[in-house]
Amino acid sequence: MKTYNNSIALFERAQQSIPGGVNSPVRAFKSVGGTPVFIERAKGAYLYDADGNQYIDYIASWGPMILGHAYEPVVKAIQEKAEGSTSFGAPTELEIEMAELIKSMTRNVDLVRMVSSGTEACMSALRLARGYTGRNKFIKFEGCYHGHADAFLVKAGSGLATFDIQTVPGITAGVSNDTLTCAYNDLDAVKQLVTAHKGEIAAIIIEPIAGNMGCILPQPGFVEGLRHICTEEGIVFIFDEVMTGFRLGAGGAQATLNVDADLVCYGKVIGAGMPVGAFGGKKEIMSHIAPLGNVYQAGTLSGNPLAMIAGFTLLQTLQNNPDFYRELDAKTEYLHKGLETVLTATGKPFVINRLGSMISVHFSAQPVTDFACAAASDNAFFNKFFHAMLRRGIYLPPSAFESWFLNNALTYADLDATIAAAQESLTELCA
Ligand SMILES: *Cc1c(COP(=O)(O)O)cnc(C)c1O
Repeated sequence: MKTYNNSIALFERAQQSIPGGVNSPVRAFKSVGGTPVFIERAKGAYLYDADGNQYIDYIASWGPMILGHAYEPVVKAIQEKAEGSTSFGAPTELEIEMAELIKSMTRNVDLVRMVSSGTEACMSALRLARGYTGRNKFIKFEGCYHGHADAFLVKAGSGLATFDIQTVPGITAGVSNDTLTCAYNDLDAVKQLVTAHKGEIAAIIIEPIAGNMGCILPQPGFVEGLRHICTEEGIVFIFDEVMTGFRLGAGGAQATLNVDADLVCYGKVIGAGMPVGAFGGKKEIMSHIAPLGNVYQAGTLSGNPLAMIAGFTLLQTLQNNPDFYRELDAKTEYLHKGLETVLTATGKPFVINRLGSMISVHFSAQPVTDFACAAASDNAFFNKFFHAMLRRGIYLPPSAFESWFLNNALTYADLDATIAAAQESLTELCA
């Protein structure tokens, strides 16, 4: 029987000096209930909490730990780099190497600017699209999350979906009015909006495989249809690949779906767990960014040596391992099949959505293709399932509105243990 006394005490103490005891809302376990587990360290596929409990990790820091935690070459590279100072505020050769590496792995990236988070990447890409087109409005999809910049916090997924926050106080109507939303996978709705706002729309931004309302896949033709509309109407098509970039494959969703974006946002994997994001795209658009153009964007710590060496080492490892993605995807497929078998046996309706190493279980009798479907699922049951799994040492995202992320340190024995834990948990919950 696990005990959580140290985590409980730490959470009490945290709430005295940190809002809600956490520095990012979903961590608080508010929707699943109970006390968040405080993590002390992690290695490979395992997390260790403040009470010494071990967990098999299916969050991977929400994506970055794709090779497992404390991957030795990354840790070593950071240690060595730190000896030469942690920041200069002046350019370095390593930043060129990082940009060159990103360009060599992706498509449609002629120029790339490093930032310090996915939020900054998306916020800057939107500003650039507006500056480039001279238009103000943009379209996003219900349940997609593009970081916490004002313009994006309209019908956003992730923590806002988890906590059912409909409108965010502090964001002006002027800002929200320029944000147009459609249901994910509803191409006709996009066509109608574009017709109604002809010549006013700067950008369409999308999670090409959505991960912030649980994992939801684009229906065949959806992303292709958006590409077509953007080309016809002079709209900048922004792929928010903060989750999918370097996770679905070296080329991200652009390569997986074989659809070209005009601008691409990166985060998560690109920093190997350091605070890193990036946005890039075609030269014609990117050359409007300062100091080439007047669309201003800057960052004191952007491209800092520790962040760059961590990301560079990770991306290079991925690039030099052609079998990596096949291995990771095969593991995820194995988990998918195993979960499918034990879930089927319970008779509880469920849907498993998966692409590559992104996967999630929705307790739904219908296909889950947009936010409304995800929200209509039996998420109260998911919350119980989360705790039943946690007690068995399996650390899932503490919300039905989040994708699970696999890492390649997971062994087949770990996956078998996870499937067995799911069987036990479901037997307990469906009794
Ligand atoms: C996580 C995420 C972001 C925001 O990144 P942060 O580093 O948390 O600011 C943006 N877009 C998507 C798709 C994400 O998953």
